[in-house]
Amino acid sequence: MNRRDFISTTGAVVVASALPTSEVFARNDSTDFGVPVLPALPYATNALEPYIDSMTMDIHHSRHHKAYVDGLVKAEAELAKARTTGDFAMIEYWSKKAAFHGGGHFLHSMFWKIMAPPSQGGGGEPTGTLADNIRNSFGSFDAFKKQFTAAAIAVEGSGWALLHYRPADKKLIVLQAENQHKLTSWGTTPIMGIDVWEHAYYLKYQNKRADYVNAWWNIVNWKQVQENMDVLK
Ligand code: MN
Repeated sequence: MNRRDFISTTGAVVVASALPTSEVFARNDSTDFGVPVLPALPYATNALEPYIDSMTMDIHHSRHHKAYVDGLVKAEAELAKARTTGDFAMIEYWSKKAAFHGGGHFLHSMFWKIMAPPSQGGGGEPTGTLADNIRNSFGSFDAFKKQFTAAAIAVEGSGWALLHYRPADKKLIVLQAENQHKLTSWGTTPIMGIDVWEHAYYLKYQNKRADYVNAWWNIVNWKQVQENMDVLK
C-alpha cells in the first residue's frame, strides 16, 4: 500500500491527527506526494467572537495563510527546478523561503484547529493525560499558563508562543518562534500555540497584545491539543 492509498483508505484517522495531512497536503496523482493546500476553517469566521473578530479571521485565513501556502508551493517548485537545471545559485534564498512558508503553513493549519468557540468546548482547562503532562512538566496548569502568556507577550516582533511535545522524554516545553520558524528546537513538535503577529489581533486590539493573549485562553480547544499530543506518542 503506497502513501496515497493509505490516506484514501484511512481518511478518518488522518483527519484526526496533529497535522491533518489530507486537509493541508492534497493528493497529487503525478508524484505520490501531497501538494500544500489551504485547509478550510473548522468554523465560521465569526465563531470566535468576541475574542477574535470576524474580519481578522477572514483576512488571516484567506489572505495571510493563503500566502504561506502559495509561498511554499513556489519555493518547492524553485528547488525542484534547481535540481533539474543544476543551477543552485539561489539555493540559500529558496531554502529560507521554504522554511518560512512551510513553517507558516504548518503553524496556521494547527492554529485554526486548536481554537473553538466556548459553546463547543473552547476555554477552561485541559483534562486527562494532557492535564497530567502539563502538571508534570510545569508544576501546575497555572504555572504553565503564566509562562506561556509571558512568552507570547514577549515575542520580539512577529512570531508565536508554542507548546511543544518532545517524544524522547515525553515532556512538554514552551518555546517562542520569531516569524514562523526561528528559535525552535529539534526533536520537538508544536501541539498548540498562539499567533502574535500583528495581523492576528491588530484590528480589534490595536497594539495591546497582552489583552489579546489573555482573551485567547477562552477559546483554546484542549481536546484537539490532547489529540495533537497523542498522535506523537
Ligand atoms: Mn498569522
